[in-house]
Amino acid sequence: MFPRSIFALFLSLTLGGALFAEDRKPVIVCSTTQIADFARQVVGDRMVVKSVLAAGQDPHLYEKKPGDAQLVANADLCLENGWHLEGNDWMRKLAEQSGRPLVTCTEGCKSLEVPGGKQAMHDPHAWFSCTNAATYVRNIRDAVIKIDPEHAEEYKSRAALYLDQLRALHNWILREINKIPVEQRVLVTSHDAFNYFCQAYGMTAATPVGWSTGNEIGAGITPERQQETIDSIRQHHVKAIFVETSVNPTKVREIAREAHVEIGGELYSDSMGAEGTAGETYIGMMRENVIIIVQALQ
Ligand SMILES: [Zn+2]
Repeated sequence: MFPRSIFALFLSLTLGGALFAEDRKPVIVCSTTQIADFARQVVGDRMVVKSVLAAGQDPHLYEKKPGDAQLVANADLCLENGWHLEGNDWMRKLAEQSGRPLVTCTEGCKSLEVPGGKQAMHDPHAWFSCTNAATYVRNIRDAVIKIDPEHAEEYKSRAALYLDQLRALHNWILREINKIPVEQRVLVTSHDAFNYFCQAYGMTAATPVGWSTGNEIGAGITPERQQETIDSIRQHHVKAIFVETSVNPTKVREIAREAHVEIGGELYSDSMGAEGTAGETYIGMMRENVIIIVQALQ
């Protein structure tokens, strides 16, 4: 009897211990799906990573859900993109309301400016250059080490591997875009999400909608921008234009009809693909985008 009860005690302690450890995993709550992927690459299974936005959701237009405050209140660390990607700074407000620590991932990124009324603003879509994506990852690595210094070496190792993968991705994109004739390297999409991508990989962006799909300063759609986009398509004899997974495609379809040009496919912009799709990770979404762009424009 004695050994068996010892075994039972051991079993209950082990199971209890495991559950307890599970309960105590630190929780990271991210605003966007891209940031959640970066965080997962760094923390592995050591922490629980959650994203407020689901695949396909638009961060500019996002309206807080009833459960968001509770989600953020339980976070050990909150991660936002910043530079007003989150319309009216919803992630910052959620973190401040519940007094949770917040790290802005664009901190230290090389920025592009967009019109913002009296003063120019930073274009928030910085993750579209792999160099800036690497800055996001370093910011996340440093923030994670601060809350769990005991496992610092592990976080540094994972981040180092992932940064190598981002460098490889960067070089691969350059090679792929080189397959498109120089004069055809014009990327027409729903809104101004691809400026960093175009600058990093040698393309020119043209869109009917500014840096936000919402009604924010310097953003939104204007008849002038729409006409400029159609003019660019005609001037460069662009073969195809693209819709975005997180933006209503009506406007791009209208432009395609007017400019007599094809829709080349659907690109991931402000949100990655759903779980189980090729675009469910940052590397996957970038890879799939580039394949679609090159196939349609070369
Ligand atoms: Zn956007």
